[in-house]
Order: sequence, then structure tokens, then C-alpha cells
Amino acid sequence: MDKITGSPVNRRELLLGAAALGAFTGGAGAPFGLGFAQSRVSGMAQPDEFLIRNAYVMTMDAALGDLPNADVHVRNGAIAAVGAALRAPNAEVLDGAGMLVLPGLVETHWHLWTTLLRSMSGDRQEHGYFPTSRSIGSFYTAADMYRSARLAAAEAVYSGITFVHDWCHNVRDPDYAEADLRALTESGLRARFSYGTPTGQANSETIDLADLTRLHRRWSDYSNGGRLSLGLAWRGAAGAAPLRDHEVARELGLPVSVHANNSQSSAGGIATLAAQGLLGPHVQVIHAIWCSPDEIRALADTGTSVSLSPYTELRIGFGLPVTGDFLAAGITVGLSVDTPALSGNADMFAIMKAIQNIENGRARDEFKLPARRVLELATIEGARSMGLDDQIGSLVPGKRADLIMVNTRQVNLAVFSEPAHMLVEAAQPANVDTVVVDGRILKRGGELTAVDVEEIIDEAAAALTAVRQRAGWW
Ligand SMILES: [Zn+2]
Repeated sequence: MDKITGSPVNRRELLLGAAALGAFTGGAGAPFGLGFAQSRVSGMAQPDEFLIRNAYVMTMDAALGDLPNADVHVRNGAIAAVGAALRAPNAEVLDGAGMLVLPGLVETHWHLWTTLLRSMSGDRQEHGYFPTSRSIGSFYTAADMYRSARLAAAEAVYSGITFVHDWCHNVRDPDYAEADLRALTESGLRARFSYGTPTGQANSETIDLADLTRLHRRWSDYSNGGRLSLGLAWRGAAGAAPLRDHEVARELGLPVSVHANNSQSSAGGIATLAAQGLLGPHVQVIHAIWCSPDEIRALADTGTSVSLSPYTELRIGFGLPVTGDFLAAGITVGLSVDTPALSGNADMFAIMKAIQNIENGRARDEFKLPARRVLELATIEGARSMGLDDQIGSLVPGKRADLIMVNTRQVNLAVFSEPAHMLVEAAQPANVDTVVVDGRILKRGGELTAVDVEEIIDEAAAALTAVRQRAGWW
């Protein structure tokens, strides 16, 4: 039976499909010098062209809207057409009956290297998130970075996330950055890699600016066909060395991302950035829980975007995200996972639901933040917050083909009612039937097609055991 129409595909066929895919650049001659064994599975056979037939298509484009019984034609990695009864005689057909088809979910801030530490933030001060991640993180090898990022990327694809912002603040030497980039490349995801410090680095030291500059210069070797981009994971305006990091990133034309106003004790950070002229459309501010009205105005006036990660903000006790305040001010908002060490998982459906429920609860208003608006934050507006809305975030002909199919014929989603509400309130990662990034099918029939999940889990488990041993962390 046809591999593309959701029939069972055995492991051997997947393995044989690996060579045909030709998608990954981690082999001999590639810039990755880690010497890992080649992944045993690289993917299923991929069609150049396919047609999703008879789905409920949510384009997330203001002009096109929802198309209740429509087709999506994907060709050469791009969306060729969206509409009813499309003709595409050479395309493989994917049955869309009972499926919601929408843009892939856009994740805007995730420390992929901490996915290895899933659910490890403990119940006492000394085992809290920061001591745990900093203590164990300082014992990571480059291979641990790779294994963690690979697990994170697999979870992203599984969960319907097609873009991640890898906020990498454990670059202990250039191999560590290479390790994350290799994991992202192999995953097939679209991503931004933001280059940061080794965890716990003093503010008297810059990041490895020579390596950042080298990566930037050679980015065409790393971009994986344009799916990966580079940025700065910035510590903020505290000290001369971080300011130098920012300066170099701007000289290179790189976007900058910074955590600010996380907790009451860090209030005023955004005012400092504003006073130093360090906000702007190239800047993303993360959390921004404790903002004054002037700081919100400064974010809006400078075109700075904000990333919110409700599950980590709640779990660590930062407070409640002030989503409605940002949206009312016209600030572009994206949603994020941050770290599974606190959030447990990377469920963007749950993140959407939390964002809506917290805002309605804060406002004591059932109608404050509509489901459709939340879905925009997870798609087109998230893409805008990363400067990528010209490429992804809505299903419009000419954009790259990053999309998901959600199966509504499952017990937690049936009966079909109002699609935006279903996605925000009821859907779960397990309902994601198909995930497409850049026209490549990375999940089909609920199974990941491009990576070997068992191997990823086994290697991550071994890596965690070993790094805990080295760190003496039990
Ligand atoms: Zn963070």
C-alpha cells in the first residue's frame, strides 16, 4: 500500500527510504565534526508533490479564512494552491477527511539542551530549576547537547511544532553549538539557533564571539536549505561583556533575544533596555511578567516582540503572563515551551489553552481572549514575532509548506464543532496525525518518519545517567 496515504509502513521500508531522502547534511564533508555514528533512520520516501484532499483547512490568513471542504497542494516544499477541488494530477493524495489542516505550530523560545532534564526541577531550593540546570549543565559534553536537542526536536515534531527557537545558553565550546545544529538539521525542523553563553558564565566574559562570527560567515553550510537561521541568546544589559555580545550580533545583522522582567526582583529590566536604545524590531523579550505601563509602551513603540511560556512562568512562580496587556498595546506575541525541566513537555495545545484561560481568569471575562486569537499567536503571529511571517505561519500559496493535520475523529476531539475552540481547548499532541516541514512529511499516521524514536530515547537516557554521575547529582 501507498506509504503516503497512512497505511502501515514497516521499519525496513523506512530504513530503505533513508538514502532516497537525501535531506540531511550530517555526513562526510559536512561541517559537523562530532564523529557520532550516523543515525540509522533518516526518513520515509518523500513525494515532491502531494495533495491533501477534502480537509477542513484553516489558512490563518485574514483574506482566505477557513475553507471547510478544501484541498492543499504542496509542491517542491512550497504551498502551490489552497482551495476546493484542486487539480494536481501528478500529486500523491493524502486523505483529509475528518482532519483539520492548519499551519505548523510556531514555538518561540526553548532551551533544547535542558530537555534531557525533563521534570527534574525538584521540590527544595537546592534542587530548583536554576541550581539543577546550572550544576548538571556544567558537566554536559557536546554529545549530551546533541542527545538532548534531538529528543526535544523529536518531541516538537510529534507535538505539531514545525518551528522552534533553540535558545542555547550552554555553549561550552564550538562543538556544543555544532551539536545542537546537527540535531536540528537531522530533525528536519525549521528553527532559529540563538548562540549563548556556557551556563553560569560570569557577566565579565563575552560569549565566544569568534565562533559566532565564524558561524555567521559560514552559515550557508549550516542553514540546511534555509530552514535554520542564526541569532543571539543574550544575557541582557548587565555589564560590558554582554553589551559587547549585543554589539557584535548587531554588526552581523543577527536578531537578539533576551529574558527580562521575569520576576518582581527583576522588574525594571525593560526600562533599562529602552533607556540604552537596545529594543527594536530585531529584539525579542521573553516573559516580561512584571512590566510597568511605560515598559509596555516602550516595547510597542520600538516594535519589540514578546515570547510567553505560561507553564514555566507558573511552575517556577514568576507569575501570570499579561497577554492581554501586550495585545492591547499592539505588541507581537509568540508562545513558547522554555524548558521541559519545568514544563514537563512541549504541548503547544496546552500552552494555548493556558494562555487563554489565564487571561480570561485575570480579566474575569469569558470573552476576553478568543480561541481564534490564541491560535494566531501559535501560528501567524508567532511567525511574525520571529520575523518569518513572509515564509511561514499561514497557508498561502507561495509560502513554505509547514503544516499539520489534526485528526478530529478521536475520543478527546469528537464531535466536530468549532475548530479554533477544539484546537485550543481539546486537542493534544497525540491528535496530530501528520506534520510537514518545508514540504517534507516528518510525522504520518501519528508516527515520526525521519528519526528513530527508540534510539533517541535510549541515547538520551544513557546521557542523563552519565551526566548525573559526573555531576554527582542524585
Ligand atoms: Zn527561558
